[in-house]
Amino acid sequence: MYDLLILGAGPAGLTAGIYGARGGLKTVIVERKSFGGQASITPEIENFPGIANIDGFTLTFNMQEQAKALGVTFVYDEVESVVLEGAEKSVTTKNNGEIKAKTLIIACGAESTKLGVDNEIDLIGKGVSYCATCDGRFFKNKPVAVVGGGNTAVEDALYLSNFASEVYLIHRRDSLRASKILQDKLFSSNVKILWNSIVEKLEGNPLEKIVVKNTKTAECASIDANCLFVAIGQTPASAQFLDKLKSENGYILADENMQTNIAGVYVAGDIRKTPLRQIITACADGAIAADSALKYLM
Ligand code: NAP
Repeated sequence: MYDLLILGAGPAGLTAGIYGARGGLKTVIVERKSFGGQASITPEIENFPGIANIDGFTLTFNMQEQAKALGVTFVYDEVESVVLEGAEKSVTTKNNGEIKAKTLIIACGAESTKLGVDNEIDLIGKGVSYCATCDGRFFKNKPVAVVGGGNTAVEDALYLSNFASEVYLIHRRDSLRASKILQDKLFSSNVKILWNSIVEKLEGNPLEKIVVKNTKTAECASIDANCLFVAIGQTPASAQFLDKLKSENGYILADENMQTNIAGVYVAGDIRKTPLRQIITACADGAIAADSALKYLM
């Protein structure tokens, strides 16, 4: 029986592990893939305070090593079912059986929805990004494009327009889903909007050009762009919890202590409904969630 069971070994889960173990809790982290989550595939991180430049693999590897050195147990396995209610929380894993704990932190993260064009995955870090705030600065004075028509896409395009030489917003329809205030800002910015357009092809490695197809005319045009920022939504890894935990659009709801609607169950990081999804905010969530678990067990 552990004191604290954490699902997910991204920055939120790893930080929760560090804080839990330092607080004297017998802590286990269960992760289905490998450590680091989405952050581990970010090639360069320049906005983690105190570290001017680091790759995501090294940063999250260091977090994992720190957690291990403090005595956190790591189990790499698929979670098949969870029990959230009652004094004893548990998960049943595919290969390691049942793991029980007195408290549970859900830090399974969210994945950026992929566009599905050829070469998209190969070009991650070489001209395809899912995070303008993380990677935008690398394209100072270079042409870039954003695909999507929601708040994230419009915010990304406006953010990039501060330093990129040219910003294209590629949207599949003739109206945006983004809020009016953001649309007003966009229409008075220098962002070039390509309406009724979809990304047909990514050319160059690293990326040099994007072939864009007009859905009304079927005509294709090639634009110069050194990065395509994909902002077509996120998919939280929350399916296993939605029948028990309160959520909004798949994102789990929590109070300022990361407490969910079930006692002893906390949530942290990208799976949580939160206004900003960054490594630093995930770490902060993890720290608060572990501290809440500690107080619950006192
Ligand atoms: P979103 O609102 O779901 O918008 C996704 C956009 O991507 C839509 O415009 C959609 O087009 C487009 N899209 C989806 N699949 C596509 C595909 N396969 N190919 C091309 N385009 C595709 O996602 P989001 O912008 O990431 O926002 C997620 C949530 O966070 C929203 O609730 C949003 O309001 C919120 N958010 C709020 C703020 C803020 O308030 N400042 C900032 C960011 C996010 P269609 O429009 O044609 O469906």
